[in-house]
Amino acid sequence: MPRPIQATIHGEALRHNLSRMRAAAPDARVWGVVKANAYGHGIERVFDGLRGADGFALLDLQEAERVRALGWRGPILLLEGVFEPRDLELCSRLNLWHTVHCDEQIDMLAMHKTNQPHRVFLKMNSGMNRLGFAPHRFRSAWTRLDALPQVDEISLMTHFSDADSAKGIAEQVRVFDEITRDLPGERTLSNSAASLRFGAEPGVRADWIRPGIAVYGSAPDYPDHDIAHWDLQPTMTLATRIIGVQELAPGDTVGYGSSFTADAPLRIGVVACGYADGYPRHCSTGTPVLVDGVRTRMVGRVSMDMITVDLTPVPEAGFGAEVTMWGRAANGAVLAIDEVARAGGTVGYELMCGLALRVPAVVE
Ligand SMILES: *Cc1c(COP(=O)(O)O)cnc(C)c1O
Repeated sequence: MPRPIQATIHGEALRHNLSRMRAAAPDARVWGVVKANAYGHGIERVFDGLRGADGFALLDLQEAERVRALGWRGPILLLEGVFEPRDLELCSRLNLWHTVHCDEQIDMLAMHKTNQPHRVFLKMNSGMNRLGFAPHRFRSAWTRLDALPQVDEISLMTHFSDADSAKGIAEQVRVFDEITRDLPGERTLSNSAASLRFGAEPGVRADWIRPGIAVYGSAPDYPDHDIAHWDLQPTMTLATRIIGVQELAPGDTVGYGSSFTADAPLRIGVVACGYADGYPRHCSTGTPVLVDGVRTRMVGRVSMDMITVDLTPVPEAGFGAEVTMWGRAANGAVLAIDEVARAGGTVGYELMCGLALRVPAVVE
């Protein structure tokens, strides 16, 4: 028998979360963001749950090919555009829409031979200072693109740096509006956080939203709000079992570095999940975990293949008991990935993207 660890991808939860994002930004079309192999869920595994999206947004050209191979004929957007001239051939062949964020990408387009003009999304750097044309250069980039026979419709795009926090998006929206006010074309501004927090506001409404993390059941502004607040459901469960039990006496320690010491008699379960499965090594004593759907805590350090958990709240649990590292337990109890991420000093994004290849996954 293989190790008892398994990831489950919840199709119904993907559908639910997608509809939540639609409700958050009325009238907008929705890009299902499936970059990074659908945030670690697996493109092929989420496809059925997300086929109600209006398009798929990603950045790896091979992932775009995989989405087309699944039979998707609708829009696909390359969020970083092309990286070299021959990528444009694939865009022509597979009808991929692509972001244009720098002069070099316009140069490549100008040299590209195609009789099928491309739909492009011109990206403004409105303050994030990652990809995009600075505001004062945006209109000349638009004019240059507009003159190219290789270009069909030009849409307008920007990305927010602080949609999940107090600073918010107002200043970036103001800059984007000021420069693009009289330009034609569809607009796309908001990621998950901006869609949930501001998606219905008139100044933020746009033709398309680009939610990723919320679709995958993680609250973008955790811990200010959790998934229950936003009515989102976990889309990935990482579940395993107890493979050993130890009875500790006061003064006994657990695991590498003896980082945990029992101050009273304590029954602990040894769990088949470690950092080689994608569980964060920075989690330590106190990190929440569910045993038989009951909340308890990790004790000691995460090792490569195992962690250890306090069995005090579940005295009946022993060898073979169900352990939920994050997601939904058999009894319906939920442990949000955000809580585990926070205990490990990171965010839900990193945990789901880091699910290890050795963990078998099923869709349910
Ligand atoms: C990843 C990404 C998104 C989705 O962001 P979430 O925070 O996961 O909703 C949206 N737009 C762009 C350009 C991205 O790279």
